[in-house]
Amino acid sequence: MSRHQTQSVRVDHVTLGGAAPVAVQSMTNTDTADAAATATQVAELARAGSELVRITVNSEAAAAAVPAIREALDSQGCKVPLIGDFHFNGHKLLQRYPECAQALAKYRINPGNVGRGAKRDERFASMIELACRYDKAVRIGVNWGSMDQELVVRMMDENSRASEPRDYAEVIREIMVVSALENARRAEELGLGRERIVLSCKMSGVQDLIGVYRELARRCDYALHLGLTEAGMGSKGIVASTAALAVLLQEGIGDTIRISLTPEPGGSRSQEVIVAQEILQTMGLRSFTPMVVACPGCGRTSSTVFQQLAQDIQTYLRQQMPLWSERYPGVEQMSVAVMGCVVNGPGESKHANIGISLPGTGEVPVAPVYEDGEKTVTLKGEAIAQEFQAIVERYVERHYARKPAG
Ligand code: SF4
Repeated sequence: MSRHQTQSVRVDHVTLGGAAPVAVQSMTNTDTADAAATATQVAELARAGSELVRITVNSEAAAAAVPAIREALDSQGCKVPLIGDFHFNGHKLLQRYPECAQALAKYRINPGNVGRGAKRDERFASMIELACRYDKAVRIGVNWGSMDQELVVRMMDENSRASEPRDYAEVIREIMVVSALENARRAEELGLGRERIVLSCKMSGVQDLIGVYRELARRCDYALHLGLTEAGMGSKGIVASTAALAVLLQEGIGDTIRISLTPEPGGSRSQEVIVAQEILQTMGLRSFTPMVVACPGCGRTSSTVFQQLAQDIQTYLRQQMPLWSERYPGVEQMSVAVMGCVVNGPGESKHANIGISLPGTGEVPVAPVYEDGEKTVTLKGEAIAQEFQAIVERYVERHYARKPAG
């Protein structure tokens, strides 16, 4: 698959675009003015694998808290770049709080929420000048929920006067693209280098998003941030985001992604990071954590033992990754199969690095384990789960331990 060639953009130590791998982003939902809570959630998102984290900077109190958030993260060795999300008052906040402007690695500007007329131009220019002064990257982030109304009126008028007017949805898509490109051009005229600009055009419809990004990719080489906005909750949010992003990523479009999931009440914010990683990993674009291949189960296995084992192993592998990624380079590419019976169990287990085939209903209560295609042991009894986990651990140590230098 060839990648749409974009300009690479440095955001602290992270590179977006160019030849860099597609980066995973996320956004906090804490009150940014609460520096401690926000730093805790940013660290949690970074531990889950978020390579950049966006925080809203919506008030004086939030802007004042940003340097403390950065310090709290630095003091625990968390270097994840922070992106400030600005709407309406970003120009004022960045001017009044230079330490905030300095602590952020990138500013997100929504051209639809900067103001109107001459004020809009002035505010936009002021934010770009500050980005230049502090040597920061900027994402020009258009969102169809907050489009630049002057541009909407202008382009809708032009369309209605055209000899063959386009349909409403098409014009909206074109407005999104034009808004991103015109503002990027203005930012460049104001002195911001192309290597500092990322574009996004978020929409909540899958086909709209695909159409808009194909057009952006055709018309520019700015680094592109992808995300389906307002994706929704649970499986709907995951499916809609995956449907849209998979098509674009497969076409080589997209340098960084965020999955805008509405968390379940009490659910973890890190879910959006896991989904983003799983999209990239299942598409073969990046590897983050060993993947569990599990069968769906059927009437041949009435017990839930294998479901539990598949879940426990997946959780265990994910929890180990912060430590394993230091100690065991390449372990993120390992695959583990957990299968419910002998029909596909041994075959699938043999294709994985390590696999277990649990006994189905009426089968002898034993569970053969396969390592690199060979049966190495047969487990039985009550402690199959613990024993299998220990076997996985030994496999990882044997196969991925860093070789001593020299
Ligand atoms: S491996 Fe066995 S239990 Fe799992 S889905 Fe296939 S037939 Fe059913």
